[in-house]
Amino acid sequence: MKNASLKQSKQRQRKALDERQRRIRRLIERGLIKDESEIPDEAIPIDPDLTTLANLWCPAVCYLNIEFTCVDCGKPDCWTAGSQQHYFEISKASPYKRPKRCYDCRQKELARKLQARADSGHKPS
Ligand SMILES: [Zn+2]
Repeated sequence: MKNASLKQSKQRQRKALDERQRRIRRLIERGLIKDESEIPDEAIPIDPDLTTLANLWCPAVCYLNIEFTCVDCGKPDCWTAGSQQHYFEISKASPYKRPKRCYDCRQKELARKLQARADSGHKPS
């Protein structure tokens, strides 16, 4: 049992590594980088076919953790490389989007907007 799960996690690691290599090859083919030393170990290389960041005038080549300060509560937060990947490759967000609020304040802001929408819906027209 233990061996099986170890094998699985090794396979997963292997798969992530293969994906990283595939992405780096695409970046080199596109002429966005010359070799993989341009992508730091902690960064996730972009997939130029998927990410909206490839549309930028100066395209990004990788996702890096971005530290920022929440505009509402002033708390420092981190926009992780993994969540940027999801944001720009799966949600296809605008490449100019940058985080402004921490997780807690984002939830509050979302609740506020939903409430405002609900309130306006109740107004007699
Ligand atoms: Zn906040």
